[in-house]
Amino acid sequence: MRAVLTDIEGTLGPVAFVREVLFPYAAAALPRFVRRHSKDPEVAPLLAEAAGLAGVPAGDLDQVTGCLLDWISADAKVTPLKALQGLIWEEGYRGGHFRSEVYPDALDRLRAWQAAGVPVYVYSSGSIRAQGLYFGHSFDGDLRGLFAGFFDTGSGPKQDPGSYRRIAAAIGTVPGDLMFLSDLLPELDAAAAAGLHTTWLVRPGDTTADAEQLRRPPHPIAQTFSKIPWPAWVA
Ligand SMILES: [Mg+2]
Repeated sequence: MRAVLTDIEGTLGPVAFVREVLFPYAAAALPRFVRRHSKDPEVAPLLAEAAGLAGVPAGDLDQVTGCLLDWISADAKVTPLKALQGLIWEEGYRGGHFRSEVYPDALDRLRAWQAAGVPVYVYSSGSIRAQGLYFGHSFDGDLRGLFAGFFDTGSGPKQDPGSYRRIAAAIGTVPGDLMFLSDLLPELDAAAAAGLHTTWLVRPGDTTADAEQLRRPPHPIAQTFSKIPWPAWVA
C-alpha cells in the first residue's frame, strides 16, 4: 500500500502561522485566560506547577501570569506553559479568533490523492491534539477527513530515521512505499535514510534554503504540490 506522509509548517501551510498567529495570540490571551480558568480542573494543576517552577506563591495569579509571560518572551520550553498555550489555542480556534491556512495547491492535491485512494498521514512536531485543531479549523473548513492518521514526536524526533521506520510500521507498510514531504532538509535526510521516498517543498518566499542547496537539491524538489511526482510514484 503506497501512502504519503507530510509535514505541516512550511509544507502544507505557511511556516509563519505558529510564530505570527499562534504565539502572539497565546501571549495576548493568557492573562485573561488565567483569571477566568484558574479554578478549572485542567488549568489549576498547570498554574500550581508553573508557580512551583518559578518559585512564586501558587495563589498569586498576577505573579504566576508574569512568569508565564516572561517564559513566552524568552521562548522557554516549560511544560506547564506549553500545556496552557495548547488550551488557549483550543479556546481561540473554537471561538473563531483565528483559522489555519492550507495552501490551495496542497488542498487540491490532498483531495486528488483521497479520490485516488492514496492515504495521507501527517507527521508534525505539534501534538496530535494541536494537529486536530489546526486541520479542524482551517479557512477551508474542517479538513481532518482528508487524512488517514496523525503522528507527532511520540513516534520520535523528526530528524531520526528510526521515527520514520516506526511510522511505516504503525501504518502497516514498508518505508519504500511511503513518500515524505517536508520543507526541511534534516527531516528529509532522516526519512531518506530510513528508505522513504522524499520531496522537498520549497515555497517561494517561505523557505530557509540557500542558493547552493537550491542549485544542487539533495532531494527531489517541488515548489507546489502539483509538482510532486505523481502518478509515476503511485502507479
Ligand atoms: Mg516544516
